[in-house]
Amino acid sequence: MYGLPLGDGTTAEGGAEFIGPTQDRIAALAQDMGVATFPTYNEGDNVYYRDGRRSLYATDGLLGAVPPDWGVIDLELALLRLGGMIEDVPVGEPWKAAKADEWDSQTFHTWSRSNSLSSGARFLMDVFVSSTLSARSRDVSLLYVLHYAAAAGNAGSPGSIDRLINTKDGAQELRFAGGPEQVPIRLAARLGDAVRYNAPVRSIATGGAGVTVTADGVTVSAKRAVVAMSPAIAGKIDFSPGLPASRAQLMQRYPMGSVAKFVGVYDTPFWREENLTGQALADSGAIDVTFDNSPPDGSRGILMGFINHDNVRRLDSASEAEVRAAGLESFGKLFGERAKSPVRTAMMRWDNETWSGGGPVGLAAPGVLTGFGPALREPCGPIHWAGTETSDYWTGYMDGAVRSGERVAREVGEAL
Ligand SMILES: Cc1cc2nc3c(=O)[nH]c(=O)nc-3n(C[C@H](O)[C@H](O)[C@H](O)COP(=O)(O)OP(=O)(O)OC[C@H]3O[C@@H](n4cnc5c(N)ncnc54)[C@H](O)[C@@H]3O)c2cc1C
Repeated sequence: MYGLPLGDGTTAEGGAEFIGPTQDRIAALAQDMGVATFPTYNEGDNVYYRDGRRSLYATDGLLGAVPPDWGVIDLELALLRLGGMIEDVPVGEPWKAAKADEWDSQTFHTWSRSNSLSSGARFLMDVFVSSTLSARSRDVSLLYVLHYAAAAGNAGSPGSIDRLINTKDGAQELRFAGGPEQVPIRLAARLGDAVRYNAPVRSIATGGAGVTVTADGVTVSAKRAVVAMSPAIAGKIDFSPGLPASRAQLMQRYPMGSVAKFVGVYDTPFWREENLTGQALADSGAIDVTFDNSPPDGSRGILMGFINHDNVRRLDSASEAEVRAAGLESFGKLFGERAKSPVRTAMMRWDNETWSGGGPVGLAAPGVLTGFGPALREPCGPIHWAGTETSDYWTGYMDGAVRSGERVAREVGEAL
């Protein structure tokens, strides 16, 4: 969660942004912290750009957020099959699915190509993975994707792809007034001096009565330690003695997605006048998914675009001006000439941010969940693991992070 400075003293969501139904634990924590929510702007049509053609579509029809591409029947059949498979994945323990080995021996790309014929269905399955995981569908195992969807719910309401992709009734339904980072900022304020900033943990030594954690400028000894970050980033810490091989190797095999958020700030949310939601899907250009990030009162317009996977890596050696031009070209193609002339732009790249290493979540290629999955949560002596990757429900989301904190608090409480 990060309030991205816009250069005029204000911020917009530069990282996590939305919450939706069944994300009960982040909702409860936000309420406890007095952080209000407001609906994501969702009035009018979405934009769909494929094969050089721009079209508009309403999302209140039978297909919901799925654009009416020629391949849509093909896609719906594939989604039906996926829906049945998702029901067979135990939430929090995908490696226990009856077909775990089969599903974890192929990528989502392999499955989508064997189960669809049209380029439209294939593109829409790819953009589903890109928009939810900031990865290509060849980067992740089928089992991982099935579990991600199974986890998009709670104990009373099973997860589904619909809930992942929808704005209305889905994971993008609401935003936080002042940005979601208000939640941890206020929580940290309650904890006072116990929270140390700018003190990355460099090493964790176990032995004797517990653990010794050494961070820049502070060393702490305790009975137990909780490591609350993605497996890949936990792998930067020097553990002594070394961790069991299943955990040590898991941390080598759970890379983060590649993502940046690019925003354009305008005097007004002009797309609303044209009956557009500000939401778009595109098969080309730097940005493949957009949202309306304007403040709740719509007093100015903010368009946000995700730059995902190869598209963001392609900008590694681009100058600031080239990045801005690439982002605005996408906005222009999707929302017209006015979108090319913002008052200002800003961007947050996560894939080279030292303490995140990418986002929105750690990814598993084939073989990882079945080979190493149990090590995600299994404590290593006095070291416990939290972070959204360890959650049962809403892994990959703020809600999963909060759930993992609640689970690990119980775990440590019982161990002490
Ligand atoms: C662009 C983007 C968009 C997203 N959109 C959404 C969304 O709309 N809704 C949603 O719910 N989620 C979204 N997410 C995902 C969400 O941000 C994560 O699920 C959530 O932040 C995970 O929380 P966490 O506590 O597990 O890990 P993090 O948020 O990664 O927290 C880990 C913390 O540990 C710190 N750290 C790392 N290494 C060390 C060290 N050695 N010593 C001390 N501290 C360390 C890091 O600085 C970080 O503060 C998005 C993420 C990104 C990147």
